[in-house]
Amino acid sequence: MADKNSPIVVTFPVGPLQCNCTIIGDPVSKKALVIDPGGDAQLILSKLTELALKVVAIIHTHAHLDHILAAGEIKKATGAPIHLHKEDMFLWDGVAQQCVMFGVPQISLPKPDGYLTDEHDLGCCEGVAIHTPGHTPGSTSFWFEPAKTLIAGDTLFRGGIGRTDFPGGDYNQIVKSIRQRLYALDDDVAVVTGHGPGTTIGVEKHSNMFVRA
Ligand SMILES: [Zn+2]
Ligand SMILES: [Zn+2]
Repeated sequence: MADKNSPIVVTFPVGPLQCNCTIIGDPVSKKALVIDPGGDAQLILSKLTELALKVVAIIHTHAHLDHILAAGEIKKATGAPIHLHKEDMFLWDGVAQQCVMFGVPQISLPKPDGYLTDEHDLGCCEGVAIHTPGHTPGSTSFWFEPAKTLIAGDTLFRGGIGRTDFPGGDYNQIVKSIRQRLYALDDDVAVVTGHGPGTTIGVEKHSNMFVRA
């Protein structure tokens, strides 16, 4: 059971492809991370107000447009720095082409304030970055031990794995990332996926058709 000092974890779909955005916050210090602000900036900001949390960083599992669309607006409203893995900078810098591909109005994004690396301390809720390339070269999962929660982005889904047919995708790499890094976590770890329902590491290890343990 979660005790009263367990992190606050709130996940809700945002934006054109209903990407799961997560706010994870420390109930004592009130520090929080916004993960994958893929749209609906006002909704994300109102949740932060409701939860009385202060954003210390805006972090991204990868730089596909549906995970980054509101990053600039959240930064503007909160002043929090933007972080992502350097190997996804070609997608961040290619935001104009992504807007055309996704059929959404052009946006401009600020430069990131820093890059995430493997084992990176996220500075909140004891979060750690796990570099899990494959869906994109810079795909990164976020592991929060006190919350027993993994934010997997588009790497691992309930009964599925991320597509690897986009630029920079690599099937062998995603399988290796899931097997070696994500399946190393305990079976009872809750997985927040990039889209749709969540799952657990145990369920996927035993029943995922694409990658079994
Ligand atoms: Zn993606
Ligand atoms: Zn996505």
